[in-house]
Amino acid sequence: MDYYRCENPDCGFVAEEEPDVCPRCGGTFFAALTEDEMTASDWVSMGNQAVDEKRETDALACYQRAAALNDPLGLTNLGWCLEAGVGVPADPKQAVMLYAQAAEQEYMPALTNLGYCYTYGIGVETDYDKALKCFQKGAEQGFPRAQFLLAEAYRRGSGVEPDEAEAAKWYQSAAWLGYPGAQTELGRCLEFGTGVEEDLEQAVKWYSAAAEQGSAPGMCCLGFMYESGRGVEQSWETAVEWYRKAADKGYPRALCNLAWCYEHGQGVKRDFAEAVRLYRAAAEHRRIGNQDLIGAVDLEYRRIGRTGIDQELYTALYMEMGRGGSHA
Ligand SMILES: [Zn+2]
Repeated sequence: MDYYRCENPDCGFVAEEEPDVCPRCGGTFFAALTEDEMTASDWVSMGNQAVDEKRETDALACYQRAAALNDPLGLTNLGWCLEAGVGVPADPKQAVMLYAQAAEQEYMPALTNLGYCYTYGIGVETDYDKALKCFQKGAEQGFPRAQFLLAEAYRRGSGVEPDEAEAAKWYQSAAWLGYPGAQTELGRCLEFGTGVEEDLEQAVKWYSAAAEQGSAPGMCCLGFMYESGRGVEQSWETAVEWYRKAADKGYPRALCNLAWCYEHGQGVKRDFAEAVRLYRAAAEHRRIGNQDLIGAVDLEYRRIGRTGIDQELYTALYMEMGRGGSHA
């Protein structure tokens, strides 16, 4: 079977059928390749395309080809398929082995995934010491996600004495490298003076950076700065705008905050039905147990900016959802 690779060296798009126009870069020149001429990055590129198009078994097959060539990216993405159950029943133990194999080649994303598995006991016994070693190495080599997770370890004190200043330092490093989760967390450090001197304007700057990158927690925190008029001029309308953007991504705390705005008619026309719908959506998202949402909910619980009726209603609804079993 022949394959076709876009001739734009910066593109690397590969497909089984020759397209008229490259869907990635718009180029129109393609080189025909035999299967033997396919490199590991060709297989990874085809696998990534398959993931984007939700062809899970194709993605798995492509990553398997790259992994068979001992390519670190192929091994990592195959590990991801096995961890997440993409194109294959989930097998976290196998995923950990693949991450370890790629990490041996000094591939920092794989080493960081391995550390994550050690932290949360995915496919392996929880081991904070091992996790910390992974994150430290990745962080020192300048890999932003490792820096972020190292900061998280210092903040929580997992495998190490809690150290707010050290946490803030690594959040800052990852934030400068553009990692949205770290930008949000650095914003929090600056907002509350945790490990760094309080600086509300800088907090707004970093929340904005995260929000502009589409981070729901960043959007929600930015919304709260506008709501409370800290570091910016108070504006319910702008607060609602950011809450809505984060709520559209299913972020529970933003759903709650937006619901509260509807409940009290702040920044929007008062609408109890919409408030209840949003509180319910928040409760529902809280109930779904995937890792992303656990992460989001963890953030949600670290800082609850509100007390009173919204929180009570939220809790009541959550209890109801919890007892009532599955609701669409
Ligand atoms: Zn191209």
